[in-house]
Amino acid sequence: MSDDTDWTGGCLCGKRRYRFRRPPSTAGYCHCSMCRRATGGPFAFLVRVDEAALEWTASRPAVYRSSPIAERGFCPDCGSPLFLRYDDDGRIRLTGGSLDHPELIRPQYHYGVESRLPWMDCGQGLREEETRERF
Ligand SMILES: [Zn+2]
Ligand SMILES: [Zn+2]
Repeated sequence: MSDDTDWTGGCLCGKRRYRFRRPPSTAGYCHCSMCRRATGGPFAFLVRVDEAALEWTASRPAVYRSSPIAERGFCPDCGSPLFLRYDDDGRIRLTGGSLDHPELIRPQYHYGVESRLPWMDCGQGLREEETRERF
């Protein structure tokens, strides 16, 4: 991950596209049930980037308030989940699968491990943390 890489990504239909200049600060798995539902997968692969360095280069995504402390962005045309953003955080968590080159980023931690599916066997040995957000 070099500093001058132009990182890009977007939704399935191509109407929502983003770019960021600075490399991601970190990336990891989130196993929480909200991420499961929001992505439709067994976990979310989330890539944290500075929101100030992120630019939407086509139309902006639609936003859904998914909890009292966070919202999620998605493409209203094709439904692709694009990000999770906590209200008190200057970083945005992009869905790793929406990157044009997700192979350049490796997950570094597990979050929400209390909800991890019992058959989930990827990313062994990575740091683990439980969800702070409780309802
Ligand atoms: Zn789309
Ligand atoms: Zn989550």
